[in-house]
Amino acid sequence: MKITRIDTQLLKAPLKTPFKTALRTVTHLEDLVVSIHTDSGLIGYGEGAATAVITGETITSMLGAIEHIKPMLIGQELEAFNNLLKTVEQSIIHNSTIKSALEIALYDLRAQSLKLPLYKLLGGSQTTFNTDITISLNDIDTMLEDCQKAINLGYDILKIKVGETITKDYDRIKTITETFPETTLRIDANQAWSAKESVTLLQKLEKQGIVTDFIEQPVLAHDFRGMKYIKERTLTPLLADESVFSAKQAIELLEMDACDFINIKLAKCGGISHALKIADIAELYNVKCMIGCMLEGPVSVGAAVHVASARANTITMLDLDGANLLATNPVNGGVNFNESEITLNSSYGLGVNI
Ligand code: MG
Repeated sequence: MKITRIDTQLLKAPLKTPFKTALRTVTHLEDLVVSIHTDSGLIGYGEGAATAVITGETITSMLGAIEHIKPMLIGQELEAFNNLLKTVEQSIIHNSTIKSALEIALYDLRAQSLKLPLYKLLGGSQTTFNTDITISLNDIDTMLEDCQKAINLGYDILKIKVGETITKDYDRIKTITETFPETTLRIDANQAWSAKESVTLLQKLEKQGIVTDFIEQPVLAHDFRGMKYIKERTLTPLLADESVFSAKQAIELLEMDACDFINIKLAKCGGISHALKIADIAELYNVKCMIGCMLEGPVSVGAAVHVASARANTITMLDLDGANLLATNPVNGGVNFNESEITLNSSYGLGVNI
C-alpha cells in the first residue's frame, strides 16, 4: 500500500468556557488535521494543536513542516512502517506536534490495513477509562463554581490550574480541598513557582493534612534540580509535565530521582511510538504515568486513549478532557467521550472520519 497524498485541514470548534492556565487563555480550538491518503483508498487521520507556549509550534510553522516532510513520505510503502516512523522522527528537529500528527495518521492507516482497532494493534485490551477535567485558573469563587459544575457532570477527579502568587494559590487549593473533600484533586502550576516557593506552599498544605493526588510541574521545564529539591522536601507526589518531552529527558529526570510521575503527551514527545517508549522507560523505574493532552480535538485525544489502553499497567491516570471542553464535536466516529467516561470501540484504526 503506497502513500499517494498528504492533506491538511484546520479543525475549529468553540470551547464551552475559556481555557485559562498560568501560560495562556484560549476561547476556541483551532488545530490541524493531517490526512494521509493511499492507493488502497484507505485514509489515515492525525491531529495536532499549535501550542506555541509549550512546543513552540504555530499553525503556520506546522504547515511549513508538513510541506518539508511530505516528499519524504509520498510514494513510500505503508508496510515499511518502522522506516516511515524513523523518517518522520529524523525529518526535522523539534516540531513534536506535527510529527505526532503524522505518526497518529500512520498508525491509523496501519491498524485499518490490518483490520484492527488501534489499541488492539498495540496490544491493549482495556476499553473503558475515567478522565479528570481541567478547572481553569480564575478567582476562587469562579473556580468553586466550575468545580461544582464538573462534579454535577459526574467527574470525581478535578485538575486544578494554579500559578498566580503562592499566597493566592495556597488559598485556592485549601478552599477547594475543604469545599470538596470527597473529590480527588490534582494541581497543575504550569511552571509558575520557584522551587523554594513550591516547598513553602506544599509544606504549609501538608501540615494541615492536605496532600493532593499530585502537584504537576511547579517549576520551569528545564529546572530538573528544582524538581529534585521539591521531591526531597515534600510528601505530595510530584508529576513532571513540561520537563519531559522526550524519552531521553524521561531517563535524565528518573535517573536524578526528580519526579514521582510523568505526564506523557503525544504532542510533546512526537507521537505514539515515543509515548510507548516513555511509558516503557517509566515502567523500568517503577514510575506510573498520566497521559494528557493539549487543548486538542477528538482525533489526537482519541489516539492518546488507544495508547492508554496499550500501556494500561503504567499509564494509570488520564487527563484526556480535550474533547469534552469543546462546545461542538467537529469529528465523526472515533473514541466515545462522555464527560468522565471514555470508551473505545471496535472500529478499525481510530475509526474517525472528517
Ligand atoms: Mg500540565
